Amino acid sequence: MAQIIDGKSLAAVVRARVATEVRQIKAQGGTVRFAAVLVGEDPASQIYVRNKQRACEKVGIEFELHTLPANCRYEDLTALICRLSADKTINGVLLQLPVPPAVVGDRLTEVLNLIDPQKDVDGLTMANLGKLVDGGHGLIPCTAQGILYAIQSVCPDLTGKKIVMVGRSRIVGRPTSLLLTNHDATVTVCHSRTRNLAEHTRSADIVVVATGCPHLLTADMVKKDAIIIDVGINRLPDGKLVGDVDFDRVSKIASAITPVPGGIGPLTVAFMLKNIVAAYCRQHGG
Ligand code: NDP
Repeated sequence: MAQIIDGKSLAAVVRARVATEVRQIKAQGGTVRFAAVLVGEDPASQIYVRNKQRACEKVGIEFELHTLPANCRYEDLTALICRLSADKTINGVLLQLPVPPAVVGDRLTEVLNLIDPQKDVDGLTMANLGKLVDGGHGLIPCTAQGILYAIQSVCPDLTGKKIVMVGRSRIVGRPTSLLLTNHDATVTVCHSRTRNLAEHTRSADIVVVATGCPHLLTADMVKKDAIIIDVGINRLPDGKLVGDVDFDRVSKIASAITPVPGGIGPLTVAFMLKNIVAAYCRQHGG
């Protein structure tokens, strides 16, 4: 049976470090302030934003939520993002995704790029993604950082490890593949057009799956003693929350595996907090 990589307790360690840093900033008279923007009333997004609010408040980060209706104009959203980006009292800005297509159409990248890169706690602006391509000294996407932290909790040195990243989204797959490459792993990126996915995953020391397809990775697709990172969050028709990995069977073959829930999810939030404090420090010459 595989070792369970407990994202909740790993995240608690990261959050405790952030809380200490926020206390030190406050002791010097500073305030760390974060603004989230939510467009529309998607229930899952509302839960994610509430979780982020709670997480901020627990570590002493001031949180403010800005909501826009699902039928707002593109210009309303861009004006809000520009205002928050320019506000010197706000250290971090995040646009909760997905944004209703009726509002942004194919211009999501343009909207994200309006966030000041120094405040871009999701690390999704071109400036920060570009720095990741360049070797990484910007704000790095939170889920990618959470994935790296989870892997390093069981395998500290990634040098030469063969990693298969299933999924190539701008939010998860692509930045994660870059971050892992920057840590000297040999990374193969697979996606919906990949031929013989199982052939790739079976040869990997570490498999990271972020597709949104419940139970995509099955036991026959995994090498014995591989490390399995399940990023997927899928709600089944019966209400059960599952990942992209057939956990019950794959955990019998893998050496270590993240559960869903309680794996990458809590780590993503913890690294968002870490990015908010990193953003504060960048804005104050740190
Ligand atoms: P996207 O839908 O943007 O991307 C999914 C990726 O998976 C695409 O690259 C797609 O390929 C690929 N894919 C889809 N089906 C298959 C398949 N059958 N075989 C191989 N590849 C496939 O999703 P996200 O990256 O935003 O999210 C992925 C999952 O991770 C979701 O369940 C989401 O909820 C979860 N998530 C979890 C987070 C956390 O904190 N734990 C944070 C963010 C996301 P193609 O490019 O060819 O279409």
